[in-house]
Amino acid sequence: MTEITLEKVKEDLYSRHHPSITPVHIEAKAPMIYEILRLKAKHNVVILGHNYMEPILFGLSAPEEQGDSLALSRYAATTDAEYIIFNGVFFMAETAKILSPQKRVLIADKTAGCSLADDFDSSVIDELKATHPGVPVMIYVNSNASDKAKCDVVCTSANAKHIAMSMPGEKIIFVPDVLFARNLAEELKGVKEVIYPDGDDAARGAICEVHEKFTLADILAIRKSFEIPKGHTRRMIYAHWECRPEVLREVDFYGSTSQIMNDISQRASGVGLERAFVASECEFTSNLDAAFPQVDFFTACAVRCQHMAKVSLGGVLEILRRIDKGDDLSQYEVLLEPDLIERAKKPIELMMQLSR
Ligand code: SF4
Repeated sequence: MTEITLEKVKEDLYSRHHPSITPVHIEAKAPMIYEILRLKAKHNVVILGHNYMEPILFGLSAPEEQGDSLALSRYAATTDAEYIIFNGVFFMAETAKILSPQKRVLIADKTAGCSLADDFDSSVIDELKATHPGVPVMIYVNSNASDKAKCDVVCTSANAKHIAMSMPGEKIIFVPDVLFARNLAEELKGVKEVIYPDGDDAARGAICEVHEKFTLADILAIRKSFEIPKGHTRRMIYAHWECRPEVLREVDFYGSTSQIMNDISQRASGVGLERAFVASECEFTSNLDAAFPQVDFFTACAVRCQHMAKVSLGGVLEILRRIDKGDDLSQYEVLLEPDLIERAKKPIELMMQLSR
């Protein structure tokens, strides 16, 4: 392993040429980043970085430690590291713990939630099961472990369609994301019926407070002001599954975080993608901007996930200092009852079997 020095850390940060990583940031934050990387290497700690993390935090993770929530949890299960720091939100760290119960999973701020997980009233699952006996229940990975434990199968935005189609029967119950459910229902129209909380009333389901901010009017305004006409193969507007149905109907490509990234990668090296707007968390675009410097990305940085933003360099460093000193980690550690781990693991494992 190459030796980590403050000079090398600064060199790496300056080489990134990222608009949000300015010389002022580098000089102020490099000593902290150096200390994080030094302690990470000393204690063989894995730092998982979700695609929505701000670039300076995202860069703490090696390429194989970066990705969407499912890819990161899968990686967590295969690593032999004793400590895993999850730079993302709580349900992601919880999923990593369920898949790796013998490891110590830590998060810089345990209150970093998610509107999809936190705003969902899980009694809705019981009601839907009672009203639709025998219909399998699929739950989005953006949910609490106790809610997953009540369901038959978990899905991510990358595999929801496939998992829904792999479950038996002509109907599927899908919770908690009402906007995603509407989009999935439209996609599976005539093939499989999607039942979700309260149909047109989102009140008893949940929505992503970030993705629902994009309106059709926003997308039309972006087309006009950034000169991204419909049908142009080198200028694209992307949206995440969690956006509103009318937004998905208007954009050029919709999908999960990884599907959007793959399409950008293929177009960048194929037709020569020149301009893109991504209707998703702003820092996702920041990280795409760093990965594909040949593409001009337009951003909407008023659209940030307040939960993701709770994870800070200071928090990550404090965890590593405590590991180094052998201090108490309970403020940061994800702790789940063994019984809950067993029950929540079943629907996650079924998803993994079905998505192989
Ligand atoms: S961006 Fe939306 S789905 Fe992702 S963590 Fe934030 S609130 Fe949850």
